[in-house]
Amino acid sequence: MEFCDECGSMMKADDGMWVCGSCDFTKPKGNTDAYTVTEGQEASEIIESSDESALPETDARCPECGNDKAYWYLQQIRSADESETRFFVCTECKHKWREDDH
Ligand SMILES: [Zn+2]
Ligand SMILES: [Zn+2]
Repeated sequence: MEFCDECGSMMKADDGMWVCGSCDFTKPKGNTDAYTVTEGQEASEIIESSDESALPETDARCPECGNDKAYWYLQQIRSADESETRFFVCTECKHKWREDDH
């Protein structure tokens, strides 16, 4: 939201500029990008599955209970060097572990 320096009317965003609807005064939008960058970022960072039964199943041995079936999914970890890490969730005890943990 921006208001005209000249007449105080509400300004409209137009092609990187603020344009006054009343007196046609314009000014550059500047670094308003800062408002939009972080929106929605959190959600894509951590893809926790709320419905594990929808995940694909594979043969993997649970380190907790020895069960040999587990759901798996890929998760992006920004702080790590690798782009994606495979996680397993035991179908029996719901134990969760990373593929490269052992
Ligand atoms: Zn104006
Ligand atoms: Zn288990």
